[in-house]
Amino acid sequence: MGAVLAESQAPWAGIITCADSRGLPNWIFDVNPGQLFVVRSAGNTAFDDAVASMEYAVANLSVSLIMVLGHSCWGAVPRGLQDLEQGVEHNARSAAESLASKSQVLARAVQAGTLKIYGAVYDIVSSRVRLV
Ligand SMILES: [Zn+2]
Repeated sequence: MGAVLAESQAPWAGIITCADSRGLPNWIFDVNPGQLFVVRSAGNTAFDDAVASMEYAVANLSVSLIMVLGHSCWGAVPRGLQDLEQGVEHNARSAAESLASKSQVLARAVQAGTLKIYGAVYDIVSSRVRLV
């Protein structure tokens, strides 16, 4: 695989996700190196360098899917943590929604139908990912 990866990369998705050590995108989605173009930071925010990285992935690597992936840690949400769960969902969704407004490259790709952008939450307990 190393020789193939040395030649080029052809990721099919860009992922903006948290720096949390329990949320490794390639492990979550069970894919090999070379398949995901990943930016990680605490809180999975659409900060300027993350946006620029996704622009690179779309413009130069033909990535057609971007996912902003937040995470929760509690499986079924206990009482009292529902606000926190909604906060995680809101954070991922708003970061996803902000990408096209922060980048003409991304906005044009969305308008052209060559790019989809989703917010999602990974649940560390159940290992499930759901769109938000
Ligand atoms: Zn986190």
